[in-house]
Amino acid sequence: MVDEEPADMHIPDNYIEHTLKNSKSLPPVTWTNWWKELNYLSVAILTMSPSIAIYGALTTKLRWETAAFAIFYYFFTGLGSYLETDMILVSHFLSLGITAGYHRLWSHRSYNASKPLQVFLALAGAGAAQGSIRWWARGHRAHHRYIDTDLDPYDANRGFWWCHVGWMLVKPRRRPGVADVSDLSRSAIVRWQQRWYVPLILVVGFAIPSAVPGCLWGDWHGGYVYAGAMRMCAVHHSIFALNSLAHWLGEAPFDDRHSPRDHLVTALVTFGEGYHNFHHQFPTDYRNAIRWYQYDPTKWFITGCAKIGLASHLKVGVTWPLGVVDRWGKPNALKCTFFFTGFSG
Ligand SMILES: [Zn+2]
Ligand SMILES: [Zn+2]
Repeated sequence: MVDEEPADMHIPDNYIEHTLKNSKSLPPVTWTNWWKELNYLSVAILTMSPSIAIYGALTTKLRWETAAFAIFYYFFTGLGSYLETDMILVSHFLSLGITAGYHRLWSHRSYNASKPLQVFLALAGAGAAQGSIRWWARGHRAHHRYIDTDLDPYDANRGFWWCHVGWMLVKPRRRPGVADVSDLSRSAIVRWQQRWYVPLILVVGFAIPSAVPGCLWGDWHGGYVYAGAMRMCAVHHSIFALNSLAHWLGEAPFDDRHSPRDHLVTALVTFGEGYHNFHHQFPTDYRNAIRWYQYDPTKWFITGCAKIGLASHLKVGVTWPLGVVDRWGKPNALKCTFFFTGFSG
């Protein structure tokens, strides 16, 4: 059992100003130094899957069985009610590992998940190949806490493409602001996923999607190209839109002092994470969409899990997430004046 002291126990109230003044950042990326500043591992991962997908799509026939396999595969994992043969939509099912798992469960603790659900979400999230739970949640907690400052790893002030993918392609310009993840360090499932992360990516991300069509109807290649590489590429950019599109497109009905925005298009792309202005105001709410007609399949999934006993303590309308305090000195005046706080389900 790891017993860490919370990382943010002793930080001062002027932490952002103090840190920005006293810590060094790497130099700006320019035409003369970019090749020294690249994060070559991320560049390799993020260019390989689209390259394989494009080359494969031009040279590999998409068999209906392979498309249908994706449906079976995701039905098999117990989430069948929302599948379609469209590869982008199918790919969203591994996105649940990120949206319902990495984001709403582990980054924000917006509900409690049973062990079987945690294992499923940890596996599905590994299949999306976006870093381990602990790494992702640590960056995301810093994003919420230091929103729109240089201590936010994907600061929206640096432009759309920086937030979407640029921040991963180069070495971090400075360490993200401190954010406590000691709760995650104590989770056996989070530690297990971190330990076996690379094998899990290979098994869940590529081996299973290749082997099932391969063993059942001889389409190893199609499975690898369409359910493996193309799906992975689609999952990447769907989730990256959570940091780019969701801070750029739409309205700010809850808080107009910061960059997060609400928009249906973002919700469609990100599996329901598009009501991002609401989300930044109420980060521990298990929902992004609060109206019945708004598109939030991650919320429907969590609600469904609660109905069958796999999830509980679904939080609604809680203003501050675990470990997040307003340290940038701005008052947290809400534009909405009426909101419930408590649990549902
Ligand atoms: Zn955000
Ligand atoms: Zn969040």
